[in-house]
Amino acid sequence: MAVTVGLVAQIIEQIAPKSWAEDWDNVGLLVGSGSAPIERILLALDGTLEVVEEAKAFGAQLIVAHHPIIFRPLKNLRADNAAAQVPLRLLQHGIGYYAAHTNLDQSIVSSSQALGEVLGLKKMKTFEEGVEPRGYGVSGYLEHPEKLGILWKSFLSKLRSSDIYAQPYDLAGVRLAGELERVVRKVVIVNGSGSRFVSKALFKGADLLITGDVDHHTVLDALEGGMAVGDLGHFLTEAPMLKAMYHYLSTEKSLQGIEIRVSSINRSPWQL
Ligand SMILES: [Zn+2]
Repeated sequence: MAVTVGLVAQIIEQIAPKSWAEDWDNVGLLVGSGSAPIERILLALDGTLEVVEEAKAFGAQLIVAHHPIIFRPLKNLRADNAAAQVPLRLLQHGIGYYAAHTNLDQSIVSSSQALGEVLGLKKMKTFEEGVEPRGYGVSGYLEHPEKLGILWKSFLSKLRSSDIYAQPYDLAGVRLAGELERVVRKVVIVNGSGSRFVSKALFKGADLLITGDVDHHTVLDALEGGMAVGDLGHFLTEAPMLKAMYHYLSTEKSLQGIEIRVSSINRSPWQL
């Protein structure tokens, strides 16, 4: 029996049901047909035009991505509408697009746990309850409390040599805000956009929040409250999910014979 887009969707939804996604989100099959047969799948965080071309060159019939491509209402499919170009190109190439976003963030494939393990956090638990018993992010404690500056350096070097990424990524854009001499005990990690978790992390007594996307004013709020913020950039906090998803799909019996690849060109958009 041929493997279809629908079967892949079903397998992903076993670990990340669509009903777990936030109301504002847009997950599931966004382009294509559930009955389309597939031989190759490309995994990516973002469905950019380059990723669509990469999928075509790979011969993939499906892109499984973290971020939805149709988010705000798509009002037309005109050539001069930037937001319409990816869906148009997918249709031209006959490639389907499946997004698992806030539902995946709350699944076993979520990045926060993997990042917490790299940092060496103990007594890790879900930070914000979402769908029982899971939710967003993790909180945990350092076995040996450490000064922020030293901890951050050692975290980055552990991250460089870790195997949580499918390939090496540049860590040049990561940022740290906080008093380097201050001792860190409790850490919260939330992959992706972290601004909305700052007040709760403060309330819960975290010394450091590691996340992927925090705005200026929210960082100032965190510092006022005595909490440091490590900003890895959105991409680096979420890319571990690609490897985890690769592992999950490639060990699935009903997908044996399907070629799966993690995008090699999908990276953080920040250059310098
Ligand atoms: Zn994200």
